[in-house]
Amino acid sequence: MGEKITVENGNLKVPDNPIIPFIEGDGIGPDIMNAAMIVWNEAVRIAYNGKKQIEWKEIFAGEKAFKLKGSVLPEETFNAISDHIVAIKGPLTTPVAGGYRSLNVTMRQKLNLYACVRPCRHYKGVPSPVKNPEALDVVIFRENTEDVYAGIEWQQGTGDVKKVIDFLNKEMGTSIKEDSGVGIKPISITGTKRLVKKAIQYAIDKKRNSVTLVHKGNIMKFTEGAFKDWGFELAVEEFRDYVITEDELWDQVKADDGVTPLTKPGAFKDLRGGKEAGNPGGRIVIKDRIADQMFQQVLTRPSEYAVIALPNLNGDYLSDACAAQVGGLGMAPGGNIGDYIALFEATHGTAPKYRGMDKVNPGSLTLSGVMMLEYLGWNEAAELIKSALEKTILDKKVTYDLARQMENVEPIKTSEFAKEIARRMK
Ligand code: NAP
Repeated sequence: MGEKITVENGNLKVPDNPIIPFIEGDGIGPDIMNAAMIVWNEAVRIAYNGKKQIEWKEIFAGEKAFKLKGSVLPEETFNAISDHIVAIKGPLTTPVAGGYRSLNVTMRQKLNLYACVRPCRHYKGVPSPVKNPEALDVVIFRENTEDVYAGIEWQQGTGDVKKVIDFLNKEMGTSIKEDSGVGIKPISITGTKRLVKKAIQYAIDKKRNSVTLVHKGNIMKFTEGAFKDWGFELAVEEFRDYVITEDELWDQVKADDGVTPLTKPGAFKDLRGGKEAGNPGGRIVIKDRIADQMFQQVLTRPSEYAVIALPNLNGDYLSDACAAQVGGLGMAPGGNIGDYIALFEATHGTAPKYRGMDKVNPGSLTLSGVMMLEYLGWNEAAELIKSALEKTILDKKVTYDLARQMENVEPIKTSEFAKEIARRMK
């Protein structure tokens, strides 16, 4: 019998036999979930000599939930996730009818999973479109509840949009064309600061050397620009002993030339381990970059970035762009995390044309499980999976998506890929 994970004194308390709910997912969901479970269970068994074991509890969402429970998102699924704190899911089809914009977005909003966390690093042997994919090793914290994803919009031609346009044009001095659709982009202090706090805490815990706030604040000053300002404010208010801003760092570097005075008294001289701009005495450098420039930076200077925090829409784009750089969505893991509750998930969709063919790459879900194991503090099992996965790919035992980018490699099935990974843990 498993036991529930609990929160005590602000920390997760994980028993040796935690109950973890899982949602199989639609389309290719069952194929990749079965494969990933083989890998997760074997890693935990080997890493802890059978002393730890996950007690899996199936919960339902999507097509299977509709068949069994008459709803694509039953209330009991939300309750089970809240109650067990940590859960994992396969991809879900969003039904065309049924009143949901997206099941995934609904789950994130309802469970207040405000940070979408996406690590992007390269595994040796994975084909990549860039020359040095290993230079990119970032963890992206994308805000998950606000911005244009808040779902506040009015369709062109409706009475509602007319009211909104009338109000804005008459009361607020705008000149929106009468035949527009209108959407709203809210970005709050609360939403920004809790996200940036999580990103900086992650950088501290994992000893990453920078957190970069990415925004389009040069144009959208009161939303994206405010995201940057509130992010810096939070960094200094809550993490003063751990962080140095890029401006402070430059002041310090300039001050050391013996000509420029220290513009910020009592600054960081004693803390610095060396004169290099990247080594400010072990402090985390808080930087900011404009979003469009950041898309160039991850290609041209990837090693200068470690943790990246950004609002919802730009986060969506940048996380897929970074994933492509290190091998594509088939290998990109993700997790949606709130104060404590965390729902890990494959980042790709249900790929319906491959349903039941035992063909697709289970890498994304498997690595999302690695994130989950790290979240539980079961790092030994997580490391086992990462190194076995890398060995498997280096041995050219890969599914079709990777095989087609390699020369003379015969693809193997989803289930075979999982068994090959498990075999390499021994
Ligand atoms: P998709 O399901 O991600 O599939 C697009 C293509 O990506 C596939 O045809 C395949 O490429 C490749 N692919 C996806 N997963 C793969 C895997 N595990 N291994 C290898 N290749 C993989 O995107 P979509 O077709 O746009 O969306 C289908 C459905 O998924 C929609 O209903 C959408 O709403 C839903 N969706 C759900 C989530 C989620 O639950 N988080 C996310 C995105 C989309 P090739 O054709 O080149 O082989």
